[in-house]
Amino acid sequence: MIKKSRKVRDYKKLTKALPTDRYLNPKSVHIHLQNNRCKTYDLHVKEGDHVKLGQVIGVRHGGFFEQNIHSTISGTIGKTSKKVHRSGRKVDCIEIKNDFKETYHESVVDRTDAQIEKLTQEDMVDILKEKSLVGLGGSGFPTYIKLATKDPIDTVVVNAVECEPYLSSDYRLILEHPERVVKGLQYIMQALDVQKGIIAIKSSKDPLYEVLTQVLKVRFPEMNVKVAKLGNHYPQGWEIEVFRHALNIDIPHGVLPTKYGVIGFNVSTTVGVYDAIKHNLPVTKRHFTLTGDAIKFPQNYRIKVGTPVKDLIEKSEGYKKDIDEMVVVMGGPMMGNATLDDDIIVSKTTTSVIVLENKEYKEEQCVRCGSCVYSCPARIQPQQIMQAYKRKDKEQIEELEAYKCVECGLCAYVCTSKIHVTDYIRKAKKLIG
Ligand code: SF4
Ligand code: SF4
Repeated sequence: MIKKSRKVRDYKKLTKALPTDRYLNPKSVHIHLQNNRCKTYDLHVKEGDHVKLGQVIGVRHGGFFEQNIHSTISGTIGKTSKKVHRSGRKVDCIEIKNDFKETYHESVVDRTDAQIEKLTQEDMVDILKEKSLVGLGGSGFPTYIKLATKDPIDTVVVNAVECEPYLSSDYRLILEHPERVVKGLQYIMQALDVQKGIIAIKSSKDPLYEVLTQVLKVRFPEMNVKVAKLGNHYPQGWEIEVFRHALNIDIPHGVLPTKYGVIGFNVSTTVGVYDAIKHNLPVTKRHFTLTGDAIKFPQNYRIKVGTPVKDLIEKSEGYKKDIDEMVVVMGGPMMGNATLDDDIIVSKTTTSVIVLENKEYKEEQCVRCGSCVYSCPARIQPQQIMQAYKRKDKEQIEELEAYKCVECGLCAYVCTSKIHVTDYIRKAKKLIG
């Protein structure tokens, strides 16, 4: 039987209704010195040095850009050690021991509204570069590069769809800080000289639509910004799907949305733009979901970047006793990376950690039911790509356009034979480089 599905169980109610808990004073933080875009780094500090909150302590080197590394607390530099990054790899992290004084670096000074009004696109690009803001929904792409576009833009879209099951930190962020979202959007629209904005949310019956509409009407009546309710299917939050449903634009694979006059920013990134422009602050805090059936009390937290996940697990009163073996997923369950190690540090781009009971699924033979093909949002043929990968047939993998896969995980989710189809597609993509 063909199982065409864009619906996935969302499990958000575990955390969605609870107010965000604050955990802003960890004993120490561990700041990632490497990530999946930056393999090398230079440190400007050594063990024993005192640093302030927001201070640049080093620089990461990427393929075509550099990223300042900021301290997220004030305190004393400790040792460098390897910790699990959200990519699943162990990378170098530097410890900063908290002095609990929260002393801000001299560079962290608010701008007045009059100063902000005078900022040009180039000024804002420079600020975001210095504060090394990246896509906080998980992409990690430098925001300043996106904001530096020279293409004429008609509409800025804030992507607040958060379609991955279990995740609700963006939902809480909007509910608790709607004005910061709109302000961030306002700054982006100013930088790009754009008159039209859209905040895209899911169409489920939650209060985000009312909250945002009310804030726009009362606090920002001069702005031309609409709240668009999109579908509840998965992956509605994929940028191409957002543009398709919010603006009726179909952007072909490999073409920049800016060529169609649109640009999109994740909602946490939009708030990051607000903090960088208004407060001259890098990303030192973030909303974060800790959830899953193995956690005693799933919860959204407001935390310092660099916080050990173990601290939060303890704050959630640990694991349920009746679970034999656990798997830890960093990011959403559909697109995230799984590990058995819980020695994880929350980086700027870690949206969530989900701890689940580790259930073994025995793969059965493909029955050619077509469910994966019918469900694929990239409109490619996962089953045939998987077979081509097994034969290591590069030519056919190319012909089948495996590179269009966005690794949404839907083909594995719907597979009647419990095959990890997405893993095969990932490997096929790697095979053709
Ligand atoms: S993981 Fe890739 S191949 Fe599978 S459904 Fe998503 S886009 Fe299609
Ligand atoms: S891979 Fe799974 S979903 Fe796809 S055709 Fe085979 S059995 Fe069906």
